[in-house]
Amino acid sequence: MARIKKLLIANRGEIALRIHRACHEMGIATVAVHSTADADAMHVRLADQAICIGPPAAKDSYLNIPNIISAAEISGADAIHPGYGFLSENARFAEIVELHNLIFVGPKPEHIRTMGDKVEAKRTAGALGLPLVPGSDGAVDDPVEARRLADAIGYPVIIKAASGGGGRGMKVCTSPDQLEPLMAQAGSEAKAAFGDATVYLEKYLGNPRHIEFQVFGDGQGQAIHLGERDCSLQRRHQKVLEEAPSPIITADERARMGGIVARAMADMGYRGAGTIEFLWEAGDFYFIEMNTRLQVEHPVTEMVTGLDLVREQIRIAEGEPLSCRQEEVQFRGHAIECRINAEDPRTFAPSPGLVRQYHAPGGMHVRVDSGLYAGYRVPPYYDSMVAKLIVYGTTRERCLARLRRALEEFVIEGPITTIPLHQALLDDPEFQRGDYTIKWLEEWLAAQG
Ligand code: ADP
Repeated sequence: MARIKKLLIANRGEIALRIHRACHEMGIATVAVHSTADADAMHVRLADQAICIGPPAAKDSYLNIPNIISAAEISGADAIHPGYGFLSENARFAEIVELHNLIFVGPKPEHIRTMGDKVEAKRTAGALGLPLVPGSDGAVDDPVEARRLADAIGYPVIIKAASGGGGRGMKVCTSPDQLEPLMAQAGSEAKAAFGDATVYLEKYLGNPRHIEFQVFGDGQGQAIHLGERDCSLQRRHQKVLEEAPSPIITADERARMGGIVARAMADMGYRGAGTIEFLWEAGDFYFIEMNTRLQVEHPVTEMVTGLDLVREQIRIAEGEPLSCRQEEVQFRGHAIECRINAEDPRTFAPSPGLVRQYHAPGGMHVRVDSGLYAGYRVPPYYDSMVAKLIVYGTTRERCLARLRRALEEFVIEGPITTIPLHQALLDDPEFQRGDYTIKWLEEWLAAQG
């Protein structure tokens, strides 16, 4: 076992704060890294030490591996937590961290690599017994072969980039004559965005829900699941609001499917936190991908299980066993997270700039993860998510009532935010019934005009 004494947080914003908080509760000192644009950020203010790693552009700072490793060496950190986004799913980074005798708070590099290639991930998931979306058995580049496959799968099909992520690099194809041009387009877009033109085909499910399972492995063959999150409310394949449990999953289904994913992770020897994403349609689950990191939406799982997922990640990185057995994991009540972006709620145009007033909601079972404060300037260079509001209730109904109350209290003046969007969503009877799929939000937004 290797006790971590000082941990470098290779990230910014709310997730850097989230990791800092877990560290300080565990008696671990923190090192923040930041770009010149983030010198006044809350994660920099709260950390025990802060090191500037470059100019605003992420490629020169938060993605700058030599500078991050140097910061770890200069500060005497013994571990690095990558958060989400940035370098969190970069297998090479994880390897470099370990080569420098630092602890990487995350999965084994080979698992990051396998799961980062969606074609490889699907093959691995299939071999581990997870149900797959029908599709090509691997990459497709030959148009004749693609035509034959799509005919066999049945239209519509979705063309996906093997190296894709963040909802990018996907094309839906409804007829054979569009297949070749769309594949060419998807390939060249994937090449430009991810440096890899490899694409594959999948059946396009008409109206599924996005349901994902949280897993933890100890890297030695033990693994548990912490239930599911329903992340069907999406705009442009980006999650907007997440909840746990899913309004449509029964306790039996959770135990059955959770058991399957936990066994798969145990068989793989998976280490740390991971999320297995499925599309769910008419009672069936279809694996789409695995994220080998902490997710933005992890707090809803924390709310319903009472477990601190970052603490768990750090313990596992130290070589400790999982802190509980599957039968000790209990699911209680309901939690919802709203992602609050500095964006116009109608046009979704980014709205960075000075925060003139800031007041976060409080009270029982209300959690706000955010680096905002009055006088802070939201920089224009990064993701527009500026706060997460997470609310718990003993039932979904009470959770919704509390969420409405908390949104009413939330004051962010200066940047325009998506708070009104969440308020309007809460007033929708279909949303209130939990009656939605991955297409629902975009249709709802279109109907709002
Ligand atoms: P990314 O890594 O870019 O997030 P995913 O494979 O996780 O890509 O897919 C993101 C979203 O795209 C899903 O949540 C779903 O909304 C949609 N999607 C992906 N695959 C399919 C499919 N086969 N059929 C219908 N929708 C899909």
